[in-house]
Amino acid sequence: MNREVYLDNNATTKVAPEVLQEMLPYFCEYYGNPSSAHNFGANVRKRIDAAREKVAQLIGALPEEIIFTSGGTESDNTAIHSALATQPNKKHIITSKVEHPAVLNYCKYLEKNGYKVSYINVDEDGNIDLPELENSIRQDTAIISIMYANNETGVIFPIKRIAEIAKNHGVLVHTDAVQAVGKIPINLKDMQIDMLSISGHKIHSPKGIGVLYIRKNLKFKPFIIGGHQENGLRAGTENVASIIGLGKACELALKNIDYENTKVRELRDKLECGLVEKIKLTKVNGKNAERLPNTLNISFKNVEGEAILLYLNEKRICASSGSACTTGSLEPSHVLMAMKTPFEYAHGSIRFSFSKYNTIEDVDCVLAEMPAIIEKLRNLSPFQD
Ligand code: PLP
Repeated sequence: MNREVYLDNNATTKVAPEVLQEMLPYFCEYYGNPSSAHNFGANVRKRIDAAREKVAQLIGALPEEIIFTSGGTESDNTAIHSALATQPNKKHIITSKVEHPAVLNYCKYLEKNGYKVSYINVDEDGNIDLPELENSIRQDTAIISIMYANNETGVIFPIKRIAEIAKNHGVLVHTDAVQAVGKIPINLKDMQIDMLSISGHKIHSPKGIGVLYIRKNLKFKPFIIGGHQENGLRAGTENVASIIGLGKACELALKNIDYENTKVRELRDKLECGLVEKIKLTKVNGKNAERLPNTLNISFKNVEGEAILLYLNEKRICASSGSACTTGSLEPSHVLMAMKTPFEYAHGSIRFSFSKYNTIEDVDCVLAEMPAIIEKLRNLSPFQD
């Protein structure tokens, strides 16, 4: 085999060649500053606005509801910051125990600064506890921030229902849709969501570019303060080439959404069934929940996920144990812990995440290597069944 088998697309994706092509002229040819008064800059502004329209189309939003940011993390921080800054008498936030650190660690920071946070539980399949969420709403709840789909397990949350609950209580709603956008259809016209985060590098555009959707007429206070870019909502000279790339990536994602839900899903399901069939004592995390079509999180009893990754790495197979951010620590993932995954399974969990660039050969390669890897590790394990 002379190439990587890349099954870590929830960590990051390859930039689509069409996206790169679209970006290239914006480095050396059309390098004007979109804020400049001359036509050379103003033409770039027009292209940014065209990209904004493409992003809006993908999620059923209006172009003026889209601001470009540096990525998912900034969008998540900004949404929560703005909800608190526009409602200074409200000091309470509701989120879940399984959010990405971009939300969780920002909430922990806010707790140290006088805010209160409710972290809602999930069940063993990763489904959010909706009654607990509703019961947690207080007079001073500023925002409910719940992810659209989980990055580790792919479990999809009922965001439309969560938004209804929030609106019944007059509370703002933000969703981190970084993993959901481009993989499942999202239509904000159908939902009462106030803010939504997107990250470019999860949908085949470059790293370091993202979007925050801000519902029209929502009161908003910027997180990054400075110039008047992005209609005064996000300061800093625009990352022009990446914005153009993200626009193209959104256009491609819209065309590709059926493929994600048929062909990509088939590959994921084939890997899932194959691994469960060939290797005993496995557990598919989130198996009974609605999941993203591209994500498989699977645990192998009595083995160490990091050790599996090392062996896979030797075979040039790229996967991840939990989220990329937890790699390097031997603590089981906070998501699997919240799902009360038994310890002897939680430690041996691997996430395989697909994209449109994966093939059946990739699946066959993993199915050919994994049984021997798990057997070897189980033979070495001090824990035997
Ligand atoms: N939210 C989720 C669910 C993610 O998976 C990630 C990235 O892994 C982020 C936020 C952070 O996005 P970015 O890397 O663009 O800051």
